[in-house]
Amino acid sequence: MTIKPAAIAVGSLNQRDCTKPTQYVILTSAVFDRILTQSSNPRQRDMALDIIMHPHPTLRYQSKPIRRVDAELRKIVDEMFDLMYESSGVGLAANQVNLPLKLFVANPSGVRGDGEEFVVINPEIQRPKGSEVAEEGCLSLPGVLGDVKRPKSIQLSAYDLKGNAVDVTVDGFLARVFQHEIDHLNGIMFFDRMADDALAEIAGRIQEFELDFRSRQSAGGLADDATLLAELTQWTDKYA
Ligand SMILES: [Zn+2]
Repeated sequence: MTIKPAAIAVGSLNQRDCTKPTQYVILTSAVFDRILTQSSNPRQRDMALDIIMHPHPTLRYQSKPIRRVDAELRKIVDEMFDLMYESSGVGLAANQVNLPLKLFVANPSGVRGDGEEFVVINPEIQRPKGSEVAEEGCLSLPGVLGDVKRPKSIQLSAYDLKGNAVDVTVDGFLARVFQHEIDHLNGIMFFDRMADDALAEIAGRIQEFELDFRSRQSAGGLADDATLLAELTQWTDKYA
C-alpha cells in the first residue's frame, strides 16, 4: 500500500478471540543447511524479488498459511522491506512478490529507520469496528489512487517472524494498512472495495495496466496465467 499516514494509533494487547491463526515451525540454520544441500533448484535462493503488477494472477490467489520459517524466508522478508522502501510503500504482501504465502511486511512511516516495522504471518482479522473512508494506492498499481471504505479498527491475530503470537487492536492508518495487505493475501485488490462512482474515475488507468500485462503475455515476454499459477507450487510445497 502506498499512501502517507493521516493518523496512526496502536491499541493495547487483547485476549485471543476464537479464530486462531496457523502456528508454524522455525527451522534452525542447521536444518536450513540440510535443505540447501538437498535443493534441486539452487537458482531459487538467489532470485531477486520483483513487485508484480495487476492483473498478474498471483494477485488473485488465495495465499496459503505458512507452516515453517527458515533462513531463506527470512532473507525474502528483508528483500520485501527493501522493495517496499524503494517503492515508497507502507506495506507489501508476499503475493505482490509472487509468493503465495500468508505473510506481509509493513511500516506505516514508509521510511527505513523511522516508525515501526511489522512482519505479519498467517494474519486473521477479528472484531472490525466502525467505518472510515480514505484514499489508498497499491504498489501493484502504481500511481492509481482511490477512496476505500473500511472498518476503523480491527483486532489482528497473527505470528511474527520469531513465532511469537501477536494479538493487537489497531485503528486509524495502521488498521487500514493491515487490512489492505490482508486483502492481498486473500486475492482482493483495493479497488474491489471502491464505490462504483469512485471506481469509474480510475477504471481507465486500471485498464491500461491490464492491456499492458496481456500484451506482454501475447508477445511471449510473460507466461500465460495457468503457467504463472502452476509455478507457485514450488513455494506452497516448501512452506505451506
Ligand atoms: Zn496493495
